[in-house]
Amino acid sequence: MLGRAIDKGIIELSVTDIRDYTADKHNRVDDTPYGGGAGMVMQVQPIIDACRSSGYGGPVLYMSPRGEILTGAMAKELSEMPEITILCGHYEGVDQRVLDMLDAREVSIGDYVLTGGELPAMVLVDTVARFIEGVLSGEESVMNESIYSGLLEYPQYSKPREYEGEQVPEILLSGNHGEIDLWRWEQSLALTRERRPDLFEEYLKKPMKLTKRERAILNKYR
Ligand code: SAM
Repeated sequence: MLGRAIDKGIIELSVTDIRDYTADKHNRVDDTPYGGGAGMVMQVQPIIDACRSSGYGGPVLYMSPRGEILTGAMAKELSEMPEITILCGHYEGVDQRVLDMLDAREVSIGDYVLTGGELPAMVLVDTVARFIEGVLSGEESVMNESIYSGLLEYPQYSKPREYEGEQVPEILLSGNHGEIDLWRWEQSLALTRERRPDLFEEYLKKPMKLTKRERAILNKYR
């Protein structure tokens, strides 16, 4: 999806190797932390020079386990910006002066620690790109998906109709789209209530125009 979006000129990505900007004759970009302690810290000079030379633009996001957790709302907000710059850390992270000088926003992809910021950066790029018009094909809408719709997605099935005795639910073969939509909605309600009670509570607060039947279904899960 992203490859196609790049080919079509909908999004543009460029990668800068910080090591190309080191002033150290051994090409080093890291050194020991002042004050002692384990590990190495990425130095300020190569990063600042890399940013200045590459003509970076937009807000600088530093991928970091101590950042605010990436959410759909944040991805949508970032997708509305013409340009963003993502800084990937390594070792123990980057010299604090980098973050202060670039006024960087720290973003985490979850409460676990990875060895470098490249995978988190790819996660961020992927989810932000999905909000940009033209990246997803016409019939897909990001707003219908789990989380963004307010509920987790219902179970999906494809061919064959039966596999090793496992059947596709009869309702999905009925051709009755009203009933199918109702079944899917009920499945979403049940899954969300079981797995993400926090999302379910939020969903219940939304103003909803429901038929009598829909209200009865919702009341079953409320
Ligand atoms: N010493 C740092 C700390 O305790 O916060 C962890 C450094 S980590 C080993 C190396 C780099 O991986 C970080 O600078 C960051 O760029 C990236 N990284 C690791 N976990 C991440 C996460 N959950 N979200 C975003 N980036 C992460």
